[in-house]
Amino acid sequence: MEVTSNTKERDISLAEIEKRVFHYDPHANLTLLSHAYHFSASAHEGQTRQSGEPFLHHPMEVALILTQLKLPLPSIIAGLLHDVLEDTPVTRDQLAAEFGEDVTTLVEGVTKIGQIEFRSLEEKQAENFRKMIVSVAQDVRILLIKLADRLHNMRTLHALSEDKQKRIAQETMEIYAPLANRLGIGWMKAELEDYAFRYLKPDIYHTLIKKSAVGRKERDDYIRSVINEIKKALEENNLAGKVYGRTKNIVGVYQKMIRRGIPFEEVYDLMGIRIITDTRTNCYAILGLIHSLWAPVPDRFRDFIALPKSNLYQSLHTTVAAIDGQHVEIQIRTEEMHRVAEEGIAAHWVYKEGTRFSQKDEKAFAWLRQLIEWQQEIVDTRQFMDSVKTDLFSDLVYVFTPKGDVKELMRGATPIDFAYAIHTAVGNHCVGAKVDGKIVPLGYTLKNGDRIEILTLESHFPSRSWLKLAKTPKAKTKIKYFIRIQERERSLEIGKELLERELKRGRLIPKEVFKSDAIQKIIESLGLHTLEELFIGIGYGKFSAATVIRPLLPEPLIKDGASKGTPNKEAEKGGLKIKGLGDIMMHISKCCNPVPGEPIIGFITRGRGISVHSVHCPNKDNFDYDHDRLVELTWESGAGTSHSVEILVHTIDQPGVLAAVTTVISQANANISRAEVITTAEKKATLQFWIVIRNASHLEQVLNNIEKVEGVLKARRVRKRSVPGEDR
Ligand code: MN
Repeated sequence: MEVTSNTKERDISLAEIEKRVFHYDPHANLTLLSHAYHFSASAHEGQTRQSGEPFLHHPMEVALILTQLKLPLPSIIAGLLHDVLEDTPVTRDQLAAEFGEDVTTLVEGVTKIGQIEFRSLEEKQAENFRKMIVSVAQDVRILLIKLADRLHNMRTLHALSEDKQKRIAQETMEIYAPLANRLGIGWMKAELEDYAFRYLKPDIYHTLIKKSAVGRKERDDYIRSVINEIKKALEENNLAGKVYGRTKNIVGVYQKMIRRGIPFEEVYDLMGIRIITDTRTNCYAILGLIHSLWAPVPDRFRDFIALPKSNLYQSLHTTVAAIDGQHVEIQIRTEEMHRVAEEGIAAHWVYKEGTRFSQKDEKAFAWLRQLIEWQQEIVDTRQFMDSVKTDLFSDLVYVFTPKGDVKELMRGATPIDFAYAIHTAVGNHCVGAKVDGKIVPLGYTLKNGDRIEILTLESHFPSRSWLKLAKTPKAKTKIKYFIRIQERERSLEIGKELLERELKRGRLIPKEVFKSDAIQKIIESLGLHTLEELFIGIGYGKFSAATVIRPLLPEPLIKDGASKGTPNKEAEKGGLKIKGLGDIMMHISKCCNPVPGEPIIGFITRGRGISVHSVHCPNKDNFDYDHDRLVELTWESGAGTSHSVEILVHTIDQPGVLAAVTTVISQANANISRAEVITTAEKKATLQFWIVIRNASHLEQVLNNIEKVEGVLKARRVRKRSVPGEDR
């Protein structure tokens, strides 16, 4: 490594970090810490911050802040390395090899949070962002490292452009300061707020700073004399205790001015006093002593020791009319209580903001109460911090719309759920999705922070298979509703057509039959009420059209249908002709879905007629053991019925390909009944279509045309291999 003028400074900082870590954890592996320092230094070599100082200063400062929270070594190391994945060529694998999974996971988490971009200023959005960041963090330590990162960035914000200052300050005020508060790190919250305020409302900030400077000496002198009186009283009464003056942060003062509608000059308690003693009993002894010195202000005494908040915060609060009757707030606590309040385990926020949360939030924050219970069992707080992997908000994921709005969905949700969360029409026409610019399958499980773009096609509609992909009740309901309506319509259409065709074959006029009493009788005999219900019943396959109209036909037709009507009645069965067999129930098998024109074979099923397979059916081997149930089949020439087949189109992932392919398909007179974008590969996409074609040569023509589209690599037909015996 090149020796620069900064080397000396860096060494000092490393020594400082080492000293601090050693102080609270004498067993920490300082060699590893030093290794992390050199690794980070070498990775960031040559980089500078906006302010011109070497970049390395930043991770060093972040690590230093983390030592203030007395975090265990892996977190300090992660602090030193927190920007290497984002800003240097160092890879995840390298990091894992050098420092292990734990540190790597922390760095990754911090990097991921850094990529979440806060955009909206709406209150609810801010809340969602906070939740999302917390859930992305998964581990409290990630959150703490991120907060330390933000704190140092705020301390050095002056180096950035005004635009960036405002944006980052806004984000800090709305997202990070409340997070610090919720984690119970009061000092960090106060510092983040004051820095943010300085850039968001510079005029007010500087005015308040100026005003607080006026009379500061008097205030300092005053507090000092109060402190001295307390110290003297403690000594006289043989009570141990350290007494400190405590300055309120600017934002706190400003909020008080707003809340009470008073000018700065009337905010008296700009400073307070904190007394830290050894035992709980002494807290009360000192309280009694203070109250014997000065009269307490009524209704300002709080005993959070006897009645600790569920967030672990413990302290005695009282306000007294001290020297000259000035109101001074005094907090009394033990060392241990103080440590809890300072280092954040206390999660102060539950107490402070508890009432402002909805019930749902209460539930979401139940982890914290759990955490507190565990903590009471685990003596070592450091160990506790390490062991806790918060499973906060485990039932929710937070994702972005392309515009940056946050959507909250249940965990396991897919792009289909997201599409329906946007709008029913977006859901109904959804054909694919991109996450962070890359195409993902519709069954993809959304992750926190994903930015999702839904691809839609006007001509596309939901299919039954979506019910498996959708996870949210909303999406499922919408899909089911759509399918029900669609199936009903389709069945009605098919049923009507089948019935009409059957009637025409019997030389009857459908229009007249539909109006007749005879058909009404048939309807009633089937337990139905309307003609529509009859159509739907036939369309669904509940009744056969031929059976239904039998009572309407003259006798001879029933006995010998083939002698009248169309020359080949087999033609009515999907254009199939069967060698040596009469009119038998037949269906095209789903496993290979043969189309007219290609060689086929029939398999006699038990009770369901003949299933028609392609001779290339992937399940063909399964038929061999039942050889005598195979029958030869040929297509009726000129068979014109339509068949739906599945095709896959492999393309380069570029804008417009989907549209171009669908256009080509439509131009070839092949309707698209379903379409999906299903792939994940780099820069490539696979489009899946179900198209309705006339016959094998029509299909071939469509595939050829698709392959001519620019960006298309290959287009092919797909036959599914089904479970043996399932569809035969
Ligand atoms: Mn950073």
